[in-house]
Amino acid sequence: MDLIRPPSVARVLDTDEARVLADRYGHAPTAACIREAIAQNRQAGSSTTPEEIAAQAALLLERQERSALRPVWNCTGTILHTNLGRAILSQRAVAAAKGAMERPVALEFDLGLGGRGSRDDAVADLLRGLTGAEASLLVNNNAAAVMLVLATFASGREVIVSRGELIEIGGAFRLPDIMLATGARLREVGTTNRTHLHDYETALSDQTALIMKVHPSNFRIEGFTSDVPAARLARLAREAGVPLVNDLGSGTLGDIAALGLPHEPTVADAVAEGADLVTFSGDKLLGGPQAGFVLGRADLIERMKRHPMKRAMRLDKIRLAALEATLRDYRVGRDNPTWAAMRRAPEAIARAGERLAVRLRECLGSGFHVEPVASTCQIGSGAAPTATLPSTALAISPAPGTSVEAFAAALRDRAEPVIGRIREGRLLLDLRCLNPQDEDAFVAAFPGLAAPDR
Ligand SMILES: *Cc1c(COP(=O)(O)O)cnc(C)c1O
Repeated sequence: MDLIRPPSVARVLDTDEARVLADRYGHAPTAACIREAIAQNRQAGSSTTPEEIAAQAALLLERQERSALRPVWNCTGTILHTNLGRAILSQRAVAAAKGAMERPVALEFDLGLGGRGSRDDAVADLLRGLTGAEASLLVNNNAAAVMLVLATFASGREVIVSRGELIEIGGAFRLPDIMLATGARLREVGTTNRTHLHDYETALSDQTALIMKVHPSNFRIEGFTSDVPAARLARLAREAGVPLVNDLGSGTLGDIAALGLPHEPTVADAVAEGADLVTFSGDKLLGGPQAGFVLGRADLIERMKRHPMKRAMRLDKIRLAALEATLRDYRVGRDNPTWAAMRRAPEAIARAGERLAVRLRECLGSGFHVEPVASTCQIGSGAAPTATLPSTALAISPAPGTSVEAFAAALRDRAEPVIGRIREGRLLLDLRCLNPQDEDAFVAAFPGLAAPDR
């Protein structure tokens, strides 16, 4: 094999192409990528000009510059996808967050009194108006909200929970472990499928700190089942003189029955049913930034605010600003992107499927097969786990010679990755989460993945 001498780094750096790169990406990273491109060529034994090396270095530099958190197209058929960052914010919430990033804000400053204020006050009135809860507190996420409740009221004492509600929600959130971490003692009652009022009654003792109800977010037990409604538990808790905590998980301010989904109690319902404290997430059905809410009795909230863990879990000004804007949208009845996606009419998604199938066939080339097919979406993040919304997906079979896995990987490797699901040898791209205004940008994510015959 005859050895081909690739050009030197200095020789490549001397080209106009490389000078443009050095201006944009800096001298050292450019030189490093040129070195890497040269090494790749040497390995391949290919002959290259300095200009070609510079072009290869440009690709490497561009790849290096790509953010690991760059936006992706969520075509998974799961609206609130935890691995894709759950809810996306409304334009108003984004603008509010941006304002809070760029300028000082009255975060803990009472503009009326000209003195120190409390950061959670920013949304206290809004939350009272939307839910009827007397008081509220905000933390980093709902896991933190549950931990703070347990740490404040139940350390070294017992919390009564139904065996049917001892949940694990992805990752490390397992209720028994959270209890352990806060020093609370779990008092399990009932059985996996049935828990009765008398199970709670007999477990009550002078050791009881809380009765807790937990939303079975990501599963359903069906068949011979029963549980005790929150309103009935609230009465028992009141008689026993212990607070009832209702962890709603997703927690929704709007009634999802309006979307044709099975009814779930709203946050206002849970407050009205008499829970002393209600906890839920900011970035699930609410459609806001990651946050955890505790709503309820003012005296209990006050004690939680004084717990040292509150400081370690508090929300920053950026998310608080986004949250305030998100809640304002609810007050005036404006849909945020999560609700817009859930409300999108199946016929409109089907029409988008027809339009986009034509456009993608064009840009992918003749070897690919693209057709719109009926699909179903789930809400995700533990909201109505068994319910689905009708939708349309683009089913794509790559050109012969390309595996569907390789095609899916190529789409994930784009500047704007497209994330779908592989089903029966085809890539399914669900379109419910695609805003019609974004169709051009979506199609622009595809070119360059041409079929071998192009
Ligand atoms: C999702 C969920 C949590 C955790 O909420 P994060 O905001 O993700 O921390 C806790 N409890 C229930 C019932 C949930 O569904």
